[in-house]
Amino acid sequence: MSIRLHFWGAAQTVTGSSHHIECSGRNVLLDCGLFQGHRQEAFDINSHLALLPEQIQRQSDDGLSAVVLSHAHIDHSGNLPSLVKLGYRGLIYTTPATIDLCGPMLRDSAHIQKDDADFLNKRDSVRKSMGLPYGRGPVPPLYTLEHAEQVMQQFRPVLLHQPEILAHSTKDSGFRVTFTNAGHMLGSACILVEGTEHGQTTRLLFSGDVGRKNLPIIRDPDPSPAADYLIMESTYGDRLHQPIGPVKHKLAQMVHRVTARGGHIIVPAFAVERTQQLILLLHQLIDEKAIPQLPIFVDSPLAANVTDIFRDHREEWDGEATAFYAKNEDAFGWKSLRYLRTVQESKALNDVRTPFIVISSSGMCEAGRILHHLKNGIGDPRNLVLITGYQAPDTLGRKLVEKLLEVNIYGEPIRLLAEVESIGELSGHADQQELLAWMAPAVKTLKKVFLVHGEPDAQTVLKGEIEKHYGLEVICPKRDDRFEIV
Ligand SMILES: [Zn+2]
Repeated sequence: MSIRLHFWGAAQTVTGSSHHIECSGRNVLLDCGLFQGHRQEAFDINSHLALLPEQIQRQSDDGLSAVVLSHAHIDHSGNLPSLVKLGYRGLIYTTPATIDLCGPMLRDSAHIQKDDADFLNKRDSVRKSMGLPYGRGPVPPLYTLEHAEQVMQQFRPVLLHQPEILAHSTKDSGFRVTFTNAGHMLGSACILVEGTEHGQTTRLLFSGDVGRKNLPIIRDPDPSPAADYLIMESTYGDRLHQPIGPVKHKLAQMVHRVTARGGHIIVPAFAVERTQQLILLLHQLIDEKAIPQLPIFVDSPLAANVTDIFRDHREEWDGEATAFYAKNEDAFGWKSLRYLRTVQESKALNDVRTPFIVISSSGMCEAGRILHHLKNGIGDPRNLVLITGYQAPDTLGRKLVEKLLEVNIYGEPIRLLAEVESIGELSGHADQQELLAWMAPAVKTLKKVFLVHGEPDAQTVLKGEIEKHYGLEVICPKRDDRFEIV
C-alpha cells in the first residue's frame, strides 16, 4: 500500500505548480499550472506535462484519471488547456468560485499565448530576412481559446469539507479528496488526498498556496487537517510580512497627500484579488469619511469581469465583507467608482486634470492599459504610483520600485518624477511564521514534509525552521523527482 509521488512543476521554483500522484493504477494531477518566464523557455517547459500524451489520453487504469485544482491563479491552472489539447477529457475537481474565475483567466491566458507565438514568429521572420540565425520555424501558440473553452466543460464542482471520491476510484482503491479553505484567494483550497490500496489508506495533504489571516474579503485559512505527508508551498519561507491592520490608514494618508497637491494615484494591480481588495478598502474609507469622494477608475475589462465573480460568490466572504455588504447595496460599486471597459474611456483619462485614482493592470507593468497611465503620469511630481504586489526582476514595476531616474515605456525614455510607494501588506501568501502556524495542527501525525513552490534560498530557511520547531524530515524535491510514501 503506497502512493507514488512525482514532482514536476514548482519544484525549487515558484511557478508552474503541478504534481503527479499514482495509487492503485490511478493517476491524478494536483494542479496544472503555467510556468511563467522568458517566452521560449516557458513554451518549452509548458509543452511537457508530468504524464506522457498516451497516458493523458487514456482515462482509466494506468491513464490520467482526474485532475484536482487548488485555485485559479495561472501558475496553478494555466496549463489545463495544454492538457485538453493533448486529449484529456476527464474531470477537473475544484471549488465553484475557482471554476468561475478560471473562465476569464484561462481565456485571457489563451490570448497571451497567441500574442507570444506571434511575437516569436515575427522576430524569426525578421532575423531570417536579415540572414541572421533564427528559431525552429513558425511555432503555434501553446494553446488556443478553444482549448480554454474545452477546460470549462470538464470542471466538477467540489464543496469544502465534503469528501469526494475521484473518477475511477472505489472505496477500496484509488483516491478520495477533501477540500478545505486556504484563505489565499477567492475559491482557494488546500486538499487532503487519501490514497487507498488493498483497503489501506495513506493521507497526503497538498497545501496549494496558503493564505493569511485578516486579508480583506476572504475568510481565514482553515487549520490543517491530520495527514501522514505534507506537500507545502514555501514562497515566503524566509520572510516575515508587515501586519495587514495599518494598510487602510496608510492608503488614506496617501489619498490625502496626493489630492492636496492636485495629483493622481496610479495603481498597477493584478486584476484578480488585489484589485477587488483595493476597491473594498477604498469603499470602506469613503464610507467612514476617512477620504474624500474622489473619482476612482478600475481600468481593466478582466478586473471588471472578475469583480462580478466576487459579487456572485458571497459564500467565500468573511464576516467583515458580509457585514459591509449588509449596509451597502454593492460592496464593489458606488457613485464615484467607474469600471472602464473601452479603450476610448481609458484614453480619456489622459485629459483629466483633477485628482483621481486609477487601478489598472498588468500588476507588474509589463503590458496592458497601465502602461499609458504610467507614460502619461510618472513625469509629474504631484502624482503617486502605488505598487501593491511583488515585482519580478527586470519588469517595469521593479524599476519603479527601485526608483530609477528614468524608465522606458513604449520604447521612450521617461523621467520618473512621481512619488512611488509600495504596500506589501496585502500579500496573499503566508510568511514563514504563518506557514509554521498553519501546518502545526498536522504535525502530530506527519511523517515527512515536501517543500514546493519556493526558490531554493527560501526553501532552505524554511526547511531549517520546520526541522528545528517540529523535528520533521523535510525534502525539497527537484523537477521529475519520484518518491514512494506509505
Ligand atoms: Zn496562488
